[in-house]
Amino acid sequence: MSEQAAPDDALSRVRERFFSVARYMPEFKQGLIDFLASPKRTVCVCFPVEMEDGSVRTFHGFRVLHNAVLGPGKGGIRYHPDLTLEGVQALAALMSWKCALIGVPFGGAKGGVVCDSKALSEAELRRITRRFIAELGDNIGPHTDIPAPDMYTNQQTMAWIYDTYDMLHPGRNNRPVVTGKPIDLGGSAGRDQATARGCLYATERFLHQGGLAGLGSIRNTGVAIQGFGNVGAAAARLFHEGGARILAVSDSTGGILDESGQGLDPAQVARHKRAQGSVVGLPGTRSLTNQDLLALECDILIPAALGHQIHAGNADGVRARLIVEAANDPITPQADRILAERSLPILPDILANSGGVTVSYFEWVQNVENQQWSLSEVNLRLRDKMYAAVDKVLARSRALQQAGDSGHPLELRQLRTAALVVAIERLASATLERGIWP
Ligand code: NAD
Repeated sequence: MSEQAAPDDALSRVRERFFSVARYMPEFKQGLIDFLASPKRTVCVCFPVEMEDGSVRTFHGFRVLHNAVLGPGKGGIRYHPDLTLEGVQALAALMSWKCALIGVPFGGAKGGVVCDSKALSEAELRRITRRFIAELGDNIGPHTDIPAPDMYTNQQTMAWIYDTYDMLHPGRNNRPVVTGKPIDLGGSAGRDQATARGCLYATERFLHQGGLAGLGSIRNTGVAIQGFGNVGAAAARLFHEGGARILAVSDSTGGILDESGQGLDPAQVARHKRAQGSVVGLPGTRSLTNQDLLALECDILIPAALGHQIHAGNADGVRARLIVEAANDPITPQADRILAERSLPILPDILANSGGVTVSYFEWVQNVENQQWSLSEVNLRLRDKMYAAVDKVLARSRALQQAGDSGHPLELRQLRTAALVVAIERLASATLERGIWP
């Protein structure tokens, strides 16, 4: 089976990455490393829902709390027909490392329901969401585990989650139980575009710090974006506003390539997608496949769709100069090695897309304190966090390469290695500082 065809391997890939960097932290005992690699709690639920046509269907849902050493669990709720428990466990581990790296006081979590949201009505989605949250019961909570949006869930889903939890726990401030809510329900200014804005800040800082020879800023760069959803569409708009040319974008139905030479107008693409349900067919563009998009000659490639899109079978064809991982886990470890051999830098997911969880943390703080920050305050705080994390990863990467001799040269070249080392060290140190109970 090809790498691309085996998304269920997500967990083994995440574990492979984790254990391959553990060697750079010989000061931590093996048992501690094993603990940090394992999910702390896994909840599987199964429930019936009455559909619009009167039939009854059974749905399966998961919530995984990977690690709670730094604070309550934090992570998205995903609705997808291919969702598996192993996939959710892998994504929950990524959340632990992301929170530790960016410096927010949360542990990692993830959840979701196996369903095809595109084939469900709004009323069916609402019933699925309410029943799922009721089934999870006290496995989520404002100070235990806090969901957020992910693929095929949005502000509306978060509003239903809040309302359901609040109905079941009346008489207290339940707003911090979920983030990514509509503003009127305690959502934060800037949350809807935070992941994309975080990608922008991370890229800006990386280029400004000399991460890519001959490219000091995003101005005039050519950018290709896979996925035109919450993150991809906002990234197109923000990179466009920052002076980049958006050469191509895609969604699950296919992609489009700019033919004017000026770059796509993201607002126009968004209008076309709203009207037609697809980016494909926008006048003045040529269609291309998702595979063509990944192989496009460009300065910056932003995968912003599913995991495992760049794999051993297509990594050789990537012709970007920099990859910014807006999606979670879009590159397999084998592809990582192929790209590292070509010295192609990758801003890894736990760094590049951590803007979402950072502003989720800001939303949680505002909810706990009953505050509402302005958009400019949110963005300034986000920029500070992203710049600091990029600087930390670059410094650690340099230190690892200088120390060199105990590591694999290809691994040492990858910013992912440095990012994971920073994150796992923080988790390991916090575990030891708390003391292993009893
Ligand atoms: P979304 O559902 O809003 O958008 C997903 C997009 O990907 C859609 O345009 C969809 O058509 C497209 N897509 C699906 N399958 C595809 C395929 N095979 N090829 C090309 N495009 C395809 O989801 P989102 O919230 O934008 O999340 C995108 C990615 O970013 C996911 O990996 C998610 O885990 C990650 N992420 C999201 C956030 C967030 O705040 N939303 C935060 C961190 C990471």
